[in-house]
Amino acid sequence: MALTDLDLIQEEERFRSQLASVASDGRRKWIYARKPKGSFTRWRTAVAGILLAFLAVAPFIKIGGDQFLLFDLINRKFVLLGFVIWPEDFYLIVVLFLAGLVSIVVFTSVLGRIWCGWLCPQTVFMEMVFRRIEWLIDGTAGEQLTRHRGPWTASRVARLVLKQSIFFAISFAIANVFLAYVVSSDALQGYVKDGPLAHLELFIALLAFTVVFYLVFARFREQACLVVCPYGRFMSALVDDNTVTVTYDAKRGEPRSKWKRDDTRTERDTGHCIDCHQCVAVCPTGIDIRNGIQLECVACTACIDACDDVMTKVNLPKGLIRYASATAVQTGNKKWLTPRVKAYGALWTVLTLLTIGLFVFRSDLDVRVLRSPGTTWTMTQHGTANFYDVQIINKGSRDLAYTLTAIEPKNATITPLGLPLSVKRGERVQGRFLVEVPSNPEHADDEHEHEHGAHEVHLVLALHSGNEIVKQVKSELLIP
Ligand code: SF4
Ligand code: SF4
Repeated sequence: MALTDLDLIQEEERFRSQLASVASDGRRKWIYARKPKGSFTRWRTAVAGILLAFLAVAPFIKIGGDQFLLFDLINRKFVLLGFVIWPEDFYLIVVLFLAGLVSIVVFTSVLGRIWCGWLCPQTVFMEMVFRRIEWLIDGTAGEQLTRHRGPWTASRVARLVLKQSIFFAISFAIANVFLAYVVSSDALQGYVKDGPLAHLELFIALLAFTVVFYLVFARFREQACLVVCPYGRFMSALVDDNTVTVTYDAKRGEPRSKWKRDDTRTERDTGHCIDCHQCVAVCPTGIDIRNGIQLECVACTACIDACDDVMTKVNLPKGLIRYASATAVQTGNKKWLTPRVKAYGALWTVLTLLTIGLFVFRSDLDVRVLRSPGTTWTMTQHGTANFYDVQIINKGSRDLAYTLTAIEPKNATITPLGLPLSVKRGERVQGRFLVEVPSNPEHADDEHEHEHGAHEVHLVLALHSGNEIVKQVKSELLIP
């Protein structure tokens, strides 16, 4: 039966309704991606090498005794670039999160999914580690497909066992590295020395994460980007025609046609695309970039290298697939600084400056003083006394030895009750103290009547380190 125009349009537009990695009957279509080679692949390999080295080494770098990066959820201790963030500094996490979110919005608006293609751990591990091992053990994409369709030979089984064992070992190493970010590298080294049986629950959790990593990289693969990652979903709302991303130059490439001996297309009687499908063969998500920007494109640049290689061979200019915006391809206008990008950029600048300011000007000392629960005032032989609970957090880089005095009322005396008078860096101390004032304290001008008939007067305390006042704290003192 002859195909109608509608059939042809539906065939051409099928990519809009069907994932390249899912067959029409709903089964998974395994992607056998061809190995790309070219300048973008070399750059991505270098970036991936730096990122992987950083990921592995960062938990073992210490700044002033603190781990360079630590996300200790159990003890609620976070360290960013050696800067300790306490639960009391939760606002820093919030502004940091907001600044990160706006950064993604800005970068995606300008440069598309540059995060996915160059920096995302999923892509870096999948394309730069696991896929390369697969090519090493299983051979080229064509050899993999042939073996998959062929019989189960001893060589096929041996390759399968070797590859999956290496995948599992790497997944175990990744789980250990991530654990070092959560429990600290010191604690991890302690667990390793003690052996798995000494920390069985933790070891079981570690194996569970290993299995998750293994399944993601050995089986789930590109599906993590296509159906799980939320970033790919909201990317379409951030990208527009001025976004610079991996783009096929349809103006130059169409109408496409196969390359023939003594082809004359250098004279532009037809498009430059020779319909060789090399850009599709290298794509890790199996799509055809010539259909335009698609949700499945993780901007890995493999198709740029593949097409540049083809263009070089047929003596045509490189860059049929390149980093460009749709507007630049259509009109030659390379303007990317649109009003939208300027607005996002302004918001990003404000948030970034705010975040830096909050980090830089955060106080190194956090002191909280509260009257002890259930107490009001009591009479002593020196006058009237109030009991207080105090918590001191030393967020600075040095240990602190301190004394506590009263600035207001001037004649108040302070007696620590089990309160340590030194706080190590990165630690907190808690305790109680007693404030006593003679029956008629000075500075009673500020006093006002309390609902229980007592009077409240301002209490101003000072923490001294040597001769220097390092912190002043205000509270209220109850007197009859
Ligand atoms: S690799 Fe280039 S020439 Fe070959 S099909 Fe893709 S776009 Fe066309
Ligand atoms: S279309 Fe090109 S850039 Fe996009 S995922 Fe495929 S190979 Fe990578």
